[in-house]
Amino acid sequence: MPRTISVSPGQGPKYRGSSRGRKHGRASKKQREAIFRRDDYECQRCGSEYNLRVDHIKPIAKGGTNTQDNMQTLCEPCNSAKGDKTICYLDPNLDEVTA
Ligand SMILES: [Zn+2]
Repeated sequence: MPRTISVSPGQGPKYRGSSRGRKHGRASKKQREAIFRRDDYECQRCGSEYNLRVDHIKPIAKGGTNTQDNMQTLCEPCNSAKGDKTICYLDPNLDEVTA
């Protein structure tokens, strides 16, 4: 006897939420800590110490990598001002960074 199976939208078996620990995922907590420490817990653009986040210099969506030399500490306003552009605010004397 046939049954009707109702699948609610967005919950089909193929649907996957955010997968963790993959190549294109977000920076891990440990990684963020390392970036903050390297950048002295300061926004590399304006020097703010508040609302800090790790920014991808070259966005992952544009082929950037999840490596430390592609990351910089930015505060929230600076990060959203930067958007998805590729801008490196790191002190060029700090380390060798290829943007
Ligand atoms: Zn800032």
